[in-house]
Amino acid sequence: MRIAPNLALDERVNVLRSSGVDVLHLGFGEAGLPVHPGLVDALGAGSASNAYGPVAGAQAPRAAVAGYWTRRGTPTDAEQVVLAPGSKPLLAAVVACEPGDVVLPRPSWVTYASQVELFGRRTVWVDRPLGSGGIPDPALLPAALARARAEGATPRLVVATLPDNPTGLLARPDEVEALCRVAEAEDLVVISDEIYRDVVFGSVPFVSPADLVPDRTITVTGLSKSLALGGWRVGAVRFPDTAWGRALRGRVVGFASQVWSNLAAPMQAVAEYAFDEPADLVRHREASTRLHGLVVDAVHRIFARHGVVDVPPDGAFYVYPDFEPHRERLARHGIRDGSDLARWLLETHGLAVLEGEAFGDDPHALRFRAATSLLYGDTARRRSQALESADP
Ligand code: PLP
Repeated sequence: MRIAPNLALDERVNVLRSSGVDVLHLGFGEAGLPVHPGLVDALGAGSASNAYGPVAGAQAPRAAVAGYWTRRGTPTDAEQVVLAPGSKPLLAAVVACEPGDVVLPRPSWVTYASQVELFGRRTVWVDRPLGSGGIPDPALLPAALARARAEGATPRLVVATLPDNPTGLLARPDEVEALCRVAEAEDLVVISDEIYRDVVFGSVPFVSPADLVPDRTITVTGLSKSLALGGWRVGAVRFPDTAWGRALRGRVVGFASQVWSNLAAPMQAVAEYAFDEPADLVRHREASTRLHGLVVDAVHRIFARHGVVDVPPDGAFYVYPDFEPHRERLARHGIRDGSDLARWLLETHGLAVLEGEAFGDDPHALRFRAATSLLYGDTARRRSQALESADP
């Protein structure tokens, strides 16, 4: 398996930077904000602990995660939760441990399809609803499932990313409801990836499939995005409190015991602190989210002025313009697709972005991280001017 395209780009940028090239890195899903001091204190306190721990995570941080979901209207017991070094390994573990193929919205986060491939399953791609994102269009889903089954696939899992990466759009409650009804009718399990749940700045109300079809939803979250802790690697998953949910959780814990053993002990202290949501940390998280909203809005407006985006994102920190309408103009500059455009932006403007193809999508789409770091640092103004002038 090749390195993930987002991580490959990140490594390329690091090499360029270390050779003195000034790159504005908008190609990687990193929040780019400072760490809250309470988290640093929790890490310090946790570092006194150097023993291996329970595979699923210790009771106290699991109880904190259960409290986090319960406060959001999804009653959860610590026994339903598993902690891990990031949500990525948990998503992989679920795919590995639940037999069947996986339905993905197109576009969707780069890793889902690669994990499906890694475990020898098939991806059933279904376009997202028009003007929305993060879920396969419920109206297209039954026919897509029938086609996939006729071709020998056995669709079992369907992924919802709420809000979405790469589009930043949050599926509306009626769309989530429609997806859940299809999941019930077709006996699918919903994986609700809610890693950006606390990074919502739009007006679409958040609805989790876990509240509509609790017995068939697996919910995933983590600290990487809302608290800018990607490098600390803290993720959590919630399984349904049913015989099937408990059995799958048991298999995931078995998988974890052979792959990562346990979330690092100091990070368990961080998880307990963060998922307990002390008021000061919540204020910090809300301020970060407002900041992301401002930057996303500014970057969205730049693209909207050039006619390459329409719907403003509701959350996360991405803007996902589609250059398809400018195909002919780009071709005159020798730019045939998103990969060419991404290369041109990097080589001529020092802008690193990720092409839509990485998300299984239209080759003319590009994902720009609307980096909050654009707002500070002494090169901020020059860099946003570079972004403004990046119109071929
Ligand atoms: N899910 C989505 C949609 C993401 O964008 C990411 C990170 O980019 C992840 C999951 C993984 O996050 P982590 O493994 O850092 O928890």
